[in-house]
Amino acid sequence: TEVYLNGTFMESERARISPLDRGFLFADGVYEVIPAFNGVLFRIDEHLARLERSLGELQIHNPHSRETWQMLCQKLLLRNGGGNASVYLQVTRGTAATRDHAFPMPPIPPTIFMTTAALNAETAVTQPDSASGAAAISADDPRWARCDIKSVSLLPNAMLRQQAVASGAVEAILTRDGFLTEGSSTNVFVVKDGLIATPPLSNRILGGITRDLVIELCRKNRMPFEERAVSEAELLDADEIWISSSTKDVMPIVSLNQKPVGHGRPGEVWKALARRYVEFKRNICCE
Ligand code: PLP
Repeated sequence: TEVYLNGTFMESERARISPLDRGFLFADGVYEVIPAFNGVLFRIDEHLARLERSLGELQIHNPHSRETWQMLCQKLLLRNGGGNASVYLQVTRGTAATRDHAFPMPPIPPTIFMTTAALNAETAVTQPDSASGAAAISADDPRWARCDIKSVSLLPNAMLRQQAVASGAVEAILTRDGFLTEGSSTNVFVVKDGLIATPPLSNRILGGITRDLVIELCRKNRMPFEERAVSEAELLDADEIWISSSTKDVMPIVSLNQKPVGHGRPGEVWKALARRYVEFKRNICCE
């Protein structure tokens, strides 16, 4: 695999950064994961807009225009064989001369790293009628108050995912003060009596690109949908639970804390949405 580091494409084994990089010392950086299908980057503008926002919130200089970012993503993807893959992109505040919490003044050049990973194109949405769904656990959300920033500081998320994996589940679904926030690396939707709901955007969740697409498709197809606070009780009593992310698409959760969700199979509302979703994606990244 080739990677991109600070202006150069190279074999990943050759890539080096300093231990004084603020990404290493303070997790002082942001990232994006951009999926590509058939070599076509999916929703790249939306991902780059979120990158601009994350960098802005942390006052890290954005080193590239949107056009340049897009060109770099496309180039790296091609050099690694195109196809179905995700582009990982990280920007840290850079490598300072000394370890000091305060931002270096004057600002230093940010560190830019990009790599790609193979992506399985066969997700649950591509087989709405034969998908079996996945298991999740629920947990308290222990994270900070700026979950809207896509920061590389992912220790709580990693711990939660590990907790899920240790119980044979794929995701930990989080609640804070009795209300649903999101998953450790996904947004969450619940369905009750045909009505779809997801928590509104706030500092407590990441504004997912896939979340936006799911909402767009619900509205376009007149599926009853609400953006509103969802209580823990509603989560535990939902007919259907879905998780969404750029690498998982929208995936049905059929068991929560070892108990079946609804009938314990992917629900009809999810199936209807999944058909629309896969159709939309095929139209953009046509085969
Ligand atoms: N929430 C968190 C905490 C995430 O880390 C992610 C992405 O990995 C998401 C939600 C989903 O975002 P997206 O749909 O843009 O991939």
